[in-house]
Amino acid sequence: MDFQQFLSSELERIEQAGLLRRLRTLESAQGAEVLCDGAEIINFSSNDYLGLAAHPRLREEACRVLEEAGAGAGASRLICGNHREHERLDEALARFKGTEAALSFSTGYAAAVGVIPTVAGSTDVVILDKLCHASLVDGARLGGANVRVFPHNNLEKLASHLRWAREKFPTGRVLVVVESVYSMDGDVAPLREVVELKEAHGAWLMVDEAHGVGVLGASGRGLADALGLGGRIEIQMGTLGKALGSAGAYICGSRALRDFLINRARSFIFSTAPSPATAAASRAAVEILESPAGAERVAMLWNNIRSLEAGIPGSRAESAIFPIVIGGELEAVELSLRLREEGFLVPAIRYPTVARGSARLRIALSASHQKEEIVSLAHTLRGLQGTPGTPTGAPGTPLPAD
Ligand SMILES: *Cc1c(COP(=O)(O)O)cnc(C)c1O
Repeated sequence: MDFQQFLSSELERIEQAGLLRRLRTLESAQGAEVLCDGAEIINFSSNDYLGLAAHPRLREEACRVLEEAGAGAGASRLICGNHREHERLDEALARFKGTEAALSFSTGYAAAVGVIPTVAGSTDVVILDKLCHASLVDGARLGGANVRVFPHNNLEKLASHLRWAREKFPTGRVLVVVESVYSMDGDVAPLREVVELKEAHGAWLMVDEAHGVGVLGASGRGLADALGLGGRIEIQMGTLGKALGSAGAYICGSRALRDFLINRARSFIFSTAPSPATAAASRAAVEILESPAGAERVAMLWNNIRSLEAGIPGSRAESAIFPIVIGGELEAVELSLRLREEGFLVPAIRYPTVARGSARLRIALSASHQKEEIVSLAHTLRGLQGTPGTPTGAPGTPLPAD
């Protein structure tokens, strides 16, 4: 078959399933209001939960380091790309998370696929929550580990997988992988119980706080810190491109973990270091979180979360993410388009990001939203209910009714 023919027939298949994705283009800074494809729109789709992406301190630090250190790192950190700014960021992250050491990566995806294979290979087991992010699943597969998946937040099934792993691989390593806040459902892991289970079975635990850091716990230190569990989790991961407003990710833990990853994590070793300016922006974000201004931003975010809850009767949020499950892919897209016409950017999330038939609107809140914007979104959502052709929103959170 001709290559171009192959591409167009595949694209047609994707489109017919209601799964075709297109890029939107922003012409403004990231924020609660953005200029998107030429139109001003209120943005309820960003993971910039604290509104730090366009914060003056991050800009200033990035610009200062850009002037000083130039645009690029030049090489991987092990060759000659390890700038003082990368070390300053790693130190700030360890201090912020209260761990012995930290190692930053260029992205969360790189951290996940870099770290998991260093711990779990073909004679080992990785046990993941069903809703774990694609990067964690890919990391488990890449290392060739024996992978088991338990239904979302189902502790009984996790316990039975742990027993299975111990029986089948008595000398193997067993790594449990969970998130703290799940990215498409916005709910939280029963972390204390997960820690107790993995300890009871002699397994290790990796927790990805991509959507927890900056949102949960004192000054946004995350769920592990909020529950006082940091010292019992072998590998703490988080990203720098979401609430921290920059780009990259961190792994926090022992000094030996950091040294081991520097020697073994292929996505760290064989990849150019992030720009020093990006590291500086990330470090500035950590410093803001450690200051009273950071605690204030986290409080503003939670005020906004409570405002949206109040506007969607019956809803209860555990994080900055509000999913409204629609079901059908085409219906979710249609609703997203209607919201767009009303001036709101609320993406339809579809397979393969979520399971088939559980397409949803994903509302993400930020500390930088104005109260009126949230009230107006809730009002518009209530107005969509009952419009001809609007699905009733089962299963999951129904579309709100007045
Ligand atoms: C976004 C995300 C990642 C990937 O992080 P990037 O920095 O965007 O590559 C990893 N894990 C989870 C849970 C995420 O939500």
